[in-house]
Amino acid sequence: MNSTPFELGPIRPVDEAESLLIRTTRGCPWNRCEFCVNYKGMPFSMRSLDEVKRDIVAAAKYYGDETFETCFLQDGDSFLMKTTELVALLTFLKQTFPKLKRISSYGRAQTMIRKSVQEMQAICQAGLNKLYCGMESGSDKVLKKVNKGATAADISTSSRRAKDAGMSISEFIILGLGGQELWEEHARETAKVLSEINPHFIRVLTIGVKPGSGLHRQMEAGEYTLQTEKNIIEEQRLLIEDLNGITSHYANHHAVDLLMEVRGQFPQDKSRLIAILDRYLSLPEEDRIHFTLGKRLGIYQRLDDMGTAHLHKQVSAKLLKIRASYSDKLEEVFHDLRSQIV
Ligand code: SF4
Repeated sequence: MNSTPFELGPIRPVDEAESLLIRTTRGCPWNRCEFCVNYKGMPFSMRSLDEVKRDIVAAAKYYGDETFETCFLQDGDSFLMKTTELVALLTFLKQTFPKLKRISSYGRAQTMIRKSVQEMQAICQAGLNKLYCGMESGSDKVLKKVNKGATAADISTSSRRAKDAGMSISEFIILGLGGQELWEEHARETAKVLSEINPHFIRVLTIGVKPGSGLHRQMEAGEYTLQTEKNIIEEQRLLIEDLNGITSHYANHHAVDLLMEVRGQFPQDKSRLIAILDRYLSLPEEDRIHFTLGKRLGIYQRLDDMGTAHLHKQVSAKLLKIRASYSDKLEEVFHDLRSQIV
């Protein structure tokens, strides 16, 4: 139930925590990706231009003197709006909130690809200048397996078109999405497509399979096998190693990611990022398990935290307890903890 006099959708990107939220569509028109439960049970609907304008006016009254420099358009697919209507909405939004410097939205490849270069330019010029694109993988095999409804070529073309129109592009990648079956293909093909696009931002998110999702059913049917935490880091190492010719900012940015310190600017930080992954991979097995549990429990934030005596003691005590009941199921424990926060 909204406590605001205008509609709010259920989610927004991590980077939009301080932004004004304006809802243009409800739910996701696809709603069939095997890993996603964001809009499960929510029927998709478009909102009319008049309805959204009324919300913009209501938001301006509600926030009064509070000024926003950033705005995020919720929910899953603003590009389904007719270009003329989207341009009119953006123009009205900027008139009502004149301090806005950035307006962003999710960018679904399947919808964006239907807009011409000229339409994308008009939308960007009207104010929509940042897109969060759920690329997830650059492998057609993985995209098909998770029923993304888009090919790697669609993703590459639509993202490059938006970028050429002047928009800032943030690509989301899901580490571990290929499972044990396709992890190497997932890493290599994703790096290939990212190197083609050269997005402004690459944001990775570690898989946590949600009960009720299609991927969970695949897992139970033995069609998708979770990787170990170590293997997901090996996958990330291969992904980074294969990223070439890009100038993107790369980040592990969600609490579900194991090594939050793996973030930096390409190309100059590439070897530093690989060195952090190698530091984890070269830990003695016991230390690796210890750190992984500490991070999954939220006690550690970074590898260096293992050097803090009281935190180390706390994690050791937890590990002892968990081992007593789940000694041969630690990877399942790690995954359970991941899926609770993703
Ligand atoms: S991942 Fe995106 S496109 Fe896929 S179902 Fe979820 S919201 Fe829709």
